[in-house]
Amino acid sequence: KIQIDGVHKFFGELHVLKGVDLHVEQGEVAVLLGPSGSGKSTLLRCVNGLEEFNAGRIRVDGELVGLREVTRRDGSVELHRRTDADIARQRSRIGMVFQRFNLFPHQTALGNVMEAPRKVHRLSRGEAERRARELLERVGLADRAHHYPAQLSGGQQQRVAIARALAMEPELMLFDEPTSALDPELVGEVLSVMKDLAASGMTMVVVTHEVGFAREVADQVVFMDDGLVVEAGAPDQVIGDPRNPRTREFFAKVL
Ligand code: ATP
Ligand code: MG
Repeated sequence: KIQIDGVHKFFGELHVLKGVDLHVEQGEVAVLLGPSGSGKSTLLRCVNGLEEFNAGRIRVDGELVGLREVTRRDGSVELHRRTDADIARQRSRIGMVFQRFNLFPHQTALGNVMEAPRKVHRLSRGEAERRARELLERVGLADRAHHYPAQLSGGQQQRVAIARALAMEPELMLFDEPTSALDPELVGEVLSVMKDLAASGMTMVVVTHEVGFAREVADQVVFMDDGLVVEAGAPDQVIGDPRNPRTREFFAKVL
């Protein structure tokens, strides 16, 4: 479950997030759309602690991201920045998949999926490998375990990236335009893995221009423009019958 309340973010003078509110329930899929520069990637980066924000609160399963509450002796509550180690712990509960498949080039598909659980969860080699093979199977790549990234198609690499994120057993998955760097014929296989993941009950926030995916899979479609959530709701409403003129204009262009 994600609760984003009144989040502001500046890059120097540039006001990029202007009071974003967004709630995503456990097991829900939210698809985030909006013009280039509207703040979609920045918002995802704030949720998984890659980016500090200037005001507002983000909670993942109730826990404040990047900040912790300290109760003083007089009962008042102060917010302190979390330590880097604590932020890293929070981030390890959140899987993220980017536009560019950033796999480790010198490791096989299996090696890529095994790496983080071995290091972070200190799993034995055997246990990490068993789980990695299960995950590769789940993304349809059981027969590519020993291939290196350069020997895989873009769609296959992106599916390995999804398996690698899942290996950390995240409570939440964030996707930032996972298919926009792919050749059109490879988009479907990645969306299909994401659809299965959604059906399995994973809480997901997906930035994508794939309106078909949004219609079919999203519980909530969220339209962002100029650092704000302009409209959010059921796909049929937001895509099919947008209330806000900016939303209407956006979908008129992309559809
Ligand atoms: P796109 O659809 O092109 O990916 P987006 O909605 O993901 O766009 P962001 O990448 O979040 O948009 O960027 C929002 C604004 O913040 C843009 O004006 C961008 O130039 C600016 N921005 C993003 N990252 C930085 C940074 N590290 N330093 C300065 N400005 C940044
Ligand atoms: Mg972006």
